[in-house]
Amino acid sequence: MKPEDQAQEFELKEWEARQRRAILPAPVRPAAKWCTGTGCGERIPDERRAAVPGVQFCAECQAWSERKIGGSIGNN
Ligand SMILES: [Zn+2]
Repeated sequence: MKPEDQAQEFELKEWEARQRRAILPAPVRPAAKWCTGTGCGERIPDERRAAVPGVQFCAECQAWSERKIGGSIGNN
């Protein structure tokens, strides 16, 4: 294979990869500004939104939902 051909193939692969990325949806949804926890609606601090990609809950609701998913659904 000639160097020019290799370069061309490389470009084609790059182009294909770009097309795939363009088609795919964003890997994470944008972080919510306000907690989406039921009956919560707390403002999610900007630091938390920056630290947790696609965050939807405030720290409290996050901890609560993780406990719930973790198994023992307690006495409400
Ligand atoms: Zn919350």
